[in-house]
Amino acid sequence: MSKLANKVALVTGGSRGIGAAIAKRLAADGASVAITYAKDADAAEAVVKAIGFAGRKAIAIQADAANVEAVKSAVEKTVAAFGRLDVLVNNAGTAIPKAFEEATQEEMDRVVDINVRGVFATTQAALKHMKDGGRIIMVGSAVGERAVAPGLVPYAATKGAVKMFTQALAREVGNRGITVNNIQPGPIDTDLNPASGDWAVPQKAATALNRYGHVEEIAAMVAFVAGPESSYITGANLTVDGGMNA
Ligand code: NDP
Repeated sequence: MSKLANKVALVTGGSRGIGAAIAKRLAADGASVAITYAKDADAAEAVVKAIGFAGRKAIAIQADAANVEAVKSAVEKTVAAFGRLDVLVNNAGTAIPKAFEEATQEEMDRVVDINVRGVFATTQAALKHMKDGGRIIMVGSAVGERAVAPGLVPYAATKGAVKMFTQALAREVGNRGITVNNIQPGPIDTDLNPASGDWAVPQKAATALNRYGHVEEIAAMVAFVAGPESSYITGANLTVDGGMNA
């Protein structure tokens, strides 16, 4: 029996990178999956097709995480399509790496709106539909706990906010049998943080394993937290970073 049989998951920012790997993995574990994306409809459709070829159900919904009405609507469309919602993965996120004093107000607002405001709004909308056994999962960051390099000041602050949001919310919804956890990736090879180039060198060197992580290594942890074996884990910040924060 698949671990997530008859479950429905919504993965924000599921068209590329870590989110796409999470969507595919949750589907492989038996879930029906809705993904959101901001711009790239073709990439989103490719993920939906890959899940379909593997014999599971998936839909893609255009919803910018910074747009509260859009993310609320994405939750409603997921429930309308699949009849329920068991797992929310707040994965959509962005970083605009540069020295803090050079960051514009617009750039800082964008990072806060996607990484924090969008997470609040999506989670609130999802909780309306979640029942006993529900799972809220954040994709925070290892830099939400320990800032290893300059250039990520607003980003690190938003991921620190995600960490405390997780812990505080776990206290509020625990009596409904819903768990809330935060997966904190280290450097993972994606469009957002490619493993090649100057920016990658210090990040790779900061890990104990001396390498970037793969998207599947984050998806595996998300799948565990989404599944039945994690039933007593809540309010936890689970770091998957190749030892970067060790
Ligand atoms: P990518 O940029 O590679 O992929 C981002 C995904 O999110 C795409 O599917 C993109 O879709 C979507 N997306 C981007 N902006 C929005 C938005 N405003 N609303 C909805 N969807 C959006 O990122 P990663 O996979 O690297 O990152 C995913 C998460 O993991 C983020 O929260 C990030 O902070 C976190 N993380 C990443 C690390 C890394 O090293 N890669 C390390 C630690 C944390 P579209 O193409 O349509 O815009």
